[in-house]
Amino acid sequence: RRAEFATIRGAPATTKDGRRCTLMVNAGLAEDSAQLEAVGADGIGLFRTEFQFLVSATLPGRDSQLRLYRQVLDAAGDKPVIFRTVDIGGDKALPYLADEKDEAENPAMGWRALRLSLSRSTLMKAQARALIEATDRRVLRVMFPMISEPWEYEEARALFEEQLAWARDNRRIQPSRVEFGAMLEVPGLAEMLDVLLPRVDFLSIGTNDLTQFLFAADRADPRLAQRYDWLSPAILRFLRRVAREATAAGVPVRVCGEMGGRPLEAMALIGVGIDNFSITPAAVGPVKAMIRSLDAGAVRTRMEQLLARPPRDMRKALTDWAKRQG
Ligand code: PEP
Ligand code: MG
Repeated sequence: RRAEFATIRGAPATTKDGRRCTLMVNAGLAEDSAQLEAVGADGIGLFRTEFQFLVSATLPGRDSQLRLYRQVLDAAGDKPVIFRTVDIGGDKALPYLADEKDEAENPAMGWRALRLSLSRSTLMKAQARALIEATDRRVLRVMFPMISEPWEYEEARALFEEQLAWARDNRRIQPSRVEFGAMLEVPGLAEMLDVLLPRVDFLSIGTNDLTQFLFAADRADPRLAQRYDWLSPAILRFLRRVAREATAAGVPVRVCGEMGGRPLEAMALIGVGIDNFSITPAAVGPVKAMIRSLDAGAVRTRMEQLLARPPRDMRKALTDWAKRQG
């Protein structure tokens, strides 16, 4: 199989009926950029900037952030990189941010990610400056984690726009263009897409957090892993609805959670209208092989039937269908 994945490394992730999907990778280290060519990916769809913070003994300053971001962009070459602002706090508490130490009972739903960033605006400004300078006449792509309401996105975006204006006014290095994206991880945000979509360049669905909130099931508790399934009709209907609204608004939508890295799940996602994925590098080969043997029109038709009258075992129904298709 490895040999098979190697032969399609340079080939596009296009379905048999001509639907071009994009396969990007999730990353967090400078070295990860080098993987892009090796696995045949279209770019980095999620760069988890908090990794640098988690492995540092002290708060990484603007210069060390700048160095990392520049390294990642240089190594990615022409391929796009989407930086996510820090998702720290909660279970990823930093010892050197002592006052943010989290003693909450439910850290995943706590003082983390964008909530923390908006309350520590100096920290976020430093990150914005580092990203702007690192991008240096290239395209800056940035997205914000754990948005619950559109105003949080607006505030984060405004902070970046202030820094961009500052760079312009002071004739500093600037990006050629900026794309802003929102992560959809909190189910409530799906009710506000009419307000959010006109303001974003792309939407990225974090299915790891989204599913734990949809099912009220801790993603880190192995006992619960058996209790719900990424292929459950509730998740698929939810994602279909988001994909429809985003597509109607002309906003590209991507899944950047682990769900998209499994071939059967990725097939189901194409079935509900999601063609863009950001996954772990090792999954690019298997998912690309699946896509290149798939009829996207047929899986969409099948998914409509299945979601109209959901079978008890969706996983089995999809596996059977995939087998029949060869
Ligand atoms: C997610 O929640 O699906 C996601 C991509 O972000 P993280 O796994 O870093 O929380
Ligand atoms: Mg998340």
